[in-house]
Amino acid sequence: MATKRDYYEVLGVSRDATQEEIKRAYRKLARQYHPDVNKDDPQAEEKFKEINEAYRVLSDPKTREQYDRFGHAAFDGANGAGPGGFGPGGFGDFGPFGAGGFDPFGDLFDDLFDVFTGGRRQRSRGPVRGRDVEMEIDLDFKEAAFGVEKTIDVERVEACSRCQGNGAEPGTPIQTCPECKGTGEVRHVRATAFGQFVNIVVCPRCRGEGKWASTPCRECGGAGQVQRRRRISVKIPAGVDTGNRIRLRGEGEAGMRGGPPGDLYLYVRVRPHPMFVRDGDNVICEVPISFVQAALGDEIEVPTLEGTHKLKIPEGTQPGSEFRIRGQGIPRMGGYGRGDQIVRVRVEIPRRLTPRQKELLREFARESGEAPPGSKRFFERVRDTLGGRNGQ
Ligand SMILES: [Zn+2]
Ligand SMILES: [Zn+2]
Repeated sequence: MATKRDYYEVLGVSRDATQEEIKRAYRKLARQYHPDVNKDDPQAEEKFKEINEAYRVLSDPKTREQYDRFGHAAFDGANGAGPGGFGPGGFGDFGPFGAGGFDPFGDLFDDLFDVFTGGRRQRSRGPVRGRDVEMEIDLDFKEAAFGVEKTIDVERVEACSRCQGNGAEPGTPIQTCPECKGTGEVRHVRATAFGQFVNIVVCPRCRGEGKWASTPCRECGGAGQVQRRRRISVKIPAGVDTGNRIRLRGEGEAGMRGGPPGDLYLYVRVRPHPMFVRDGDNVICEVPISFVQAALGDEIEVPTLEGTHKLKIPEGTQPGSEFRIRGQGIPRMGGYGRGDQIVRVRVEIPRRLTPRQKELLREFARESGEAPPGSKRFFERVRDTLGGRNGQ
């Protein structure tokens, strides 16, 4: 295969060029190298073809994305060169989280399109990327907060190790498919009242490969792929929360005809904690204090995600008051610091009092200029308060 020039280079645009820039560059070059205006230049036609090919791929966001990811190998099938070799360096390097803008279902539909409709010829014979696998992963509150390494069992389709994915029993030949004569597709001609319809479908015998094993592999029955349960280790980054999606590149199902594997998506579910509730990067916890502590103030020890923290309760603290402990919340994803811990106090009223405690409280009420409960003045006050609230 002749070395092909980079499509972006052919059009003279940068890799992050907009669709509009690509279109403009193409129009300019197409006018310049159009064979009609370059009758004396034998190279113009070649050049014109090259420009057209580059534009065809880069003008469609879908094929452009494939080209960005796999280079010319993504379209090798179209040139009749057979499945391209995918070097490990051919794939972009993504973090555990999708780089955004990537739509796994798009690829999935493409695969379905290939199988059910036959697609276009280059599709049926070209490499097909493996399907993505989706799973849920359950994490403890603190595992999600601080990150964890987990082993998970993934059920997925992998290339058969016995036949290396070619479907033939080792040592037996792979022949040109007798059904499609190696083209990978079969034509069905149907005569109807409206005329003749030609329906081109992927060859059912070789599934579009054009090649066929006369002695199918014992392990996979000739499919070249097997369903496997695979135990893999996953590093969960700190700060994930329910609903987050973790993407593991290449851990999905095996591709076909040299196509790359799909990705594995893990949907995070975090189990609730008995004490902490999460609010974004902050954690909220409720701490009981006595009404004496609330009134007089105190220093209390509150639990944090990693231990305890001494918290000063000021004099006259009201029920439901919140205190903030900076930097004791959830680590932010990507390592940008941590959220806070919010401590909400619940003022507890004693359920049982000794006669002495009761006496002290009555004395307290008198000291406050307040009539002790049970006296006539107390009920008058209650009535006044309620009446006032109702706006009477
Ligand atoms: Zn096999
Ligand atoms: Zn065939």
